[in-house]
Amino acid sequence: MTDFTKTRAMFDIPEGMIYLNGNSLGPMPKAAPDAMMGFLNDEWRTELIKGWNTKNWFMQTNTLGDRIGRLIGAGAGTTVVGDTLSIKVFQAVASGLALVPDRKVILSDNGNFPTDLYMVEGLMNLKDAGYELRIPDPEDVLAGINDDVAVVMVTEVDYRTGRKHDMKAIIDKAHAHGAVVVWDLAHSAGAIPVDVTGTDADFAVGCTYKFLNAGPGAPAFIYVAPRLIDVVQPALSGWFAHEAPFAFDTDFRPMPGKIERMRIGTPSIASFSLLSAALDVWDDVDMNDLRARSIELAELFIREVEARCPGVVLAGPRDPHERGSHVSFRFEHGYPCMQALIAAGVIGDFRAPDIMRFGITPLFIDENDILKAAETLAEILKKEIWKEERFQVRSKVT
Ligand SMILES: *Cc1c(COP(=O)(O)O)cnc(C)c1O
Repeated sequence: MTDFTKTRAMFDIPEGMIYLNGNSLGPMPKAAPDAMMGFLNDEWRTELIKGWNTKNWFMQTNTLGDRIGRLIGAGAGTTVVGDTLSIKVFQAVASGLALVPDRKVILSDNGNFPTDLYMVEGLMNLKDAGYELRIPDPEDVLAGINDDVAVVMVTEVDYRTGRKHDMKAIIDKAHAHGAVVVWDLAHSAGAIPVDVTGTDADFAVGCTYKFLNAGPGAPAFIYVAPRLIDVVQPALSGWFAHEAPFAFDTDFRPMPGKIERMRIGTPSIASFSLLSAALDVWDDVDMNDLRARSIELAELFIREVEARCPGVVLAGPRDPHERGSHVSFRFEHGYPCMQALIAAGVIGDFRAPDIMRFGITPLFIDENDILKAAETLAEILKKEIWKEERFQVRSKVT
């Protein structure tokens, strides 16, 4: 059994704060400052350029990728880290389209995180080759898969409501129709069990600053099925993907047979030290234990909020197995209400137009936090604290 009191002790969360936003930006692991100082003092300062070899900077893309791979059901050598998620979405979709050159349709859904859709729009404009992006309602994605579709690009867990796609069903149908699937794991990696191998996923991408707790702007990751690695053209073909980067040839030849071909250019090595420290927390965590605990805490939260907070309505699916690891409620005055919660030390976030969102992250959240959060919300509603002038001001980042 995973010991969640042990993982909780590995995070440095300010005294008195209940942090229900680990789905947006995970909290800092206690080991992070030493990891960063270690990188500065014992790697950059002392090794300088030698660090690429002596500290293995060049291959950390892969060693860290393998550690994330364990959490998403990916075998060794199939996942690399680097760049940002928006870039990895672009790269995966562009690479997917190249695998199905006779088709023009990219199928996603209108609940997808906007940057994924924006990156595809940009890609289509760039290629100017008659591509079409279809975004039906999330429930209609499966029915929308047909022989026109080149790439299905879906985010498994809806960032607003937590609704979960049935990835196995989507992948099976896509493959039956000759389409390729790009699976965005932004709200899945570190949140729920994922099995990219067992579901026969083609591409999977995700970030490491949400449930994986590697810090703001931490690198993204990309997985490519081993059966594709020799045929996939990486798009965004940078020198870190070249079969001989230090030959400095003028033509691009992707690294044969290896996931390195999805790398682009020099990654942020400093941020890798934080990612490494963040992944240490996962060493003794079983994803099935995490899922069971997340459901238990989410069910408790929903029960408490529904019992105490009139006017606040569950936004996502009621069945916990159809949800990821965050819980959202609609409330007409969601924005000022969330500001009042944050002022009271309960940190969730707000997603327009009226959603209050709470990350349920068992690594550092327990029953007491859940009960206290629901109690605080009830109080804010009962005393109408959210009506205070100071809670009406909109910040640049919500
Ligand atoms: C958080 C999130 C992103 C963010 O992309 P960045 O490039 O890291 O800013 C993209 N897609 C989804 C589905 C997300 O949830």
